[in-house]
Amino acid sequence: MVYEKCCIGGCNTIRETHRLFRFPRNDNLRNLWMSFLVPTNPQLIVLSKEQLLKKRVCEKHFDIFQFDNEGRRLRYSYPSLLTDNEIAHGVPLTATGIEI
Ligand SMILES: [Zn+2]
Repeated sequence: MVYEKCCIGGCNTIRETHRLFRFPRNDNLRNLWMSFLVPTNPQLIVLSKEQLLKKRVCEKHFDIFQFDNEGRRLRYSYPSLLTDNEIAHGVPLTATGIEI
């Protein structure tokens, strides 16, 4: 069995409990993902594209607008919920300016 885990710093979600999503092959989209993920896990920045494509991010980091009505992740979605607070509220607090 392959042990797969979310690569976001502080998150230990594994495939057994949540959906995990692969990094996008599209360079621009992957760079957008990296702008969110590297601050949580600086080790990601040294990885090659091939290594990154083997990494996974769990569904907890995607807000509801990143999925269609049937729960499929949209093609150009990105993980914007990084802290426990953001995951609990389902919105990226830094981007919306909501104070807790
Ligand atoms: Zn995660």
